[in-house]
Amino acid sequence: MTFKELNLIQPLLGPLDKMGYTQPTPIQEQSIPHLLAGSDIFGCAQTGTGKTAAFALPILQMLDAQRIGPRSGIKALILAPTRELAIQIHEHLVQYSENLNITSTVIFGGVNQHSQVQALRKGVNILIATPGRLLDLMQQGFVRLNTVTHFVLDEADRMLDMGFIHDIKKIIPKLPEQRQTIFFSATVAPDIKKLADTILKKPVSVEVTPVASPSELVDQSIFMVDKNHKRTLLKHLIKEHNIQQGLVFTRTKHGADKVVKELNKSGVTAEAIHGNKSQNARERALNGFKNHSIRILVATDIAARGIDVDKLGYVINFELPEVAETYVHRIGRTGRAGTEGVAFSFCDEEEVQYLKGITKLMKRDIKKVAHPFNN
Ligand code: AMP
Repeated sequence: MTFKELNLIQPLLGPLDKMGYTQPTPIQEQSIPHLLAGSDIFGCAQTGTGKTAAFALPILQMLDAQRIGPRSGIKALILAPTRELAIQIHEHLVQYSENLNITSTVIFGGVNQHSQVQALRKGVNILIATPGRLLDLMQQGFVRLNTVTHFVLDEADRMLDMGFIHDIKKIIPKLPEQRQTIFFSATVAPDIKKLADTILKKPVSVEVTPVASPSELVDQSIFMVDKNHKRTLLKHLIKEHNIQQGLVFTRTKHGADKVVKELNKSGVTAEAIHGNKSQNARERALNGFKNHSIRILVATDIAARGIDVDKLGYVINFELPEVAETYVHRIGRTGRAGTEGVAFSFCDEEEVQYLKGITKLMKRDIKKVAHPFNN
């Protein structure tokens, strides 16, 4: 299957080619035809599956067909749970729409609203937003949603986890009844289903990579190691594998900071990204990681949501997560969209129970690798 066979228009095909997308991912293949036909979608897919393009490309194509201009108002609203994800969706949209006359902007909290308001004043066709800031700007009269024809709720499960449900419930009534709604969630718990039922009309369901079957492209290893040898092992692996770009997961913010300190001391550039860091510090770290001035990004699970780096080679679980699904989400950050990746996981005595849960969920063992730092 090619993007052309999905009936995407020429102005979209050029940028896709330039970005190295040779063929659609399964979620794109399944969603794009239904979206172009005008259906609502209930999509079960996690980050890394190509879901952004799955909704962004058909929306751009449908808006292009309407020959809209900057003064046509907001035609598409995309809600995302975190600033990082919102920014990343916007970056992708800008790339995909390079040949189109469609304007977009992104708004999120934690920063001064002035430049966001200025951008809105210029006329925006596609607005990407986190719920809190959107509501705030709506209440101040800077945003009107009465022209919206396409509405996307991305990472709905994370939205609920982060307590955005009340904001979402205030935003939805301001959207026109007549619209296309696209709903993405990595998991389908009963509260997700309930929310989806209230906002979707006769949706087509699409699903890819169920959480229990992580990408075959990820080479997974376990290192049984004492808690107090983990940092030495980490430094050893970074050196031995000459890791130039790796994402390290820790369970706590404090733990993340400690790992960063130790790596920096040994001459490996590293930064932590977690909820205690300011928006600026997080963006700086993420940009540094993307442009390779920072080799190792150390993150907690919530902060890592939405980190999108092409061809991320290594994910290292400095600590195993208590919830087995989280392991699958973490290693899904590597080996994404057709590239190969490596996942190393450290497991100390207290974490053996978590490891059991993970292998049970994945229905397969993970190879154990010997190393010089045991006891
Ligand atoms: P997403 O799940 O939307 O966060 O996308 C995950 C990553 O896959 C992003 O870095 C995209 O740029 C990339 N990607 C999306 N679609 C494709 C494709 N068809 N071929 C190759 N890479 C893709």
